[in-house]
Amino acid sequence: MLDDSEIRRILVINAHPDDVDFSAAGTIARWTDAGIEVVYCIVTDGDAGGRDESVPRAEMPPLRRAEQTAAAKQVGVHDLRFLGYPDGRVEATLGLRQDLARVIRQVRPDRLVCPSPERNYVRLGISHPDHRAVGSAALDAVYPDARNPFAFPELLADEGLEPWIVREVWLPGGPAPGHYVDITETFPRKIAALRAHQSQTGHMEELEEFLRGRLARTAAEGGLPEGRLAEAFQVLNTA
Ligand SMILES: [Zn+2]
Repeated sequence: MLDDSEIRRILVINAHPDDVDFSAAGTIARWTDAGIEVVYCIVTDGDAGGRDESVPRAEMPPLRRAEQTAAAKQVGVHDLRFLGYPDGRVEATLGLRQDLARVIRQVRPDRLVCPSPERNYVRLGISHPDHRAVGSAALDAVYPDARNPFAFPELLADEGLEPWIVREVWLPGGPAPGHYVDITETFPRKIAALRAHQSQTGHMEELEEFLRGRLARTAAEGGLPEGRLAEAFQVLNTA
């Protein structure tokens, strides 16, 4: 696994606004505190999310982009790229692979974070179909699309985007988590980021307690001392 001191930029790809804040915001706050530049790429605008039927659906995309932008600020992220795919209908198409390969070549990250393409049979919610599709397309974009000059040659020919090798991928909620990040100190900022998604978390009065319990169990699974909180990842060597 690469040491954080070897990392200059990290690209985080997700399906929906708020995914990153549930899965990895505590870890991201640690990275930005260490001076690492983090960029978010969010494939949909989350326009099928929320439960307030009085909010016209057409208002959801700008609302959720604004909420994600505010959430990102809480953990030191200021560069967000929204791809505008329709929420709930994402497939791992060649078009999505090309769009993600484009962002990878633009951002040139050393490390990339994306959802696992596997279905989770214990917690179905974390393997939402959009998450699986985005995870699958993102991994295909890491290998081979972004690094192969002959994959989507128009990216180089028309847009001048040189091939790029992402050296490492982190999957939150991957089928075989092996790396546990202690986020006890950044937990309040993770909660603040989640609270910024008012349309999604406004009704969740127990959110902080719920997450504290889950992240404490994750820390225990990772062998961290009693009282610590952790986010877990499966780390892939993709150099
Ligand atoms: Zn999601």
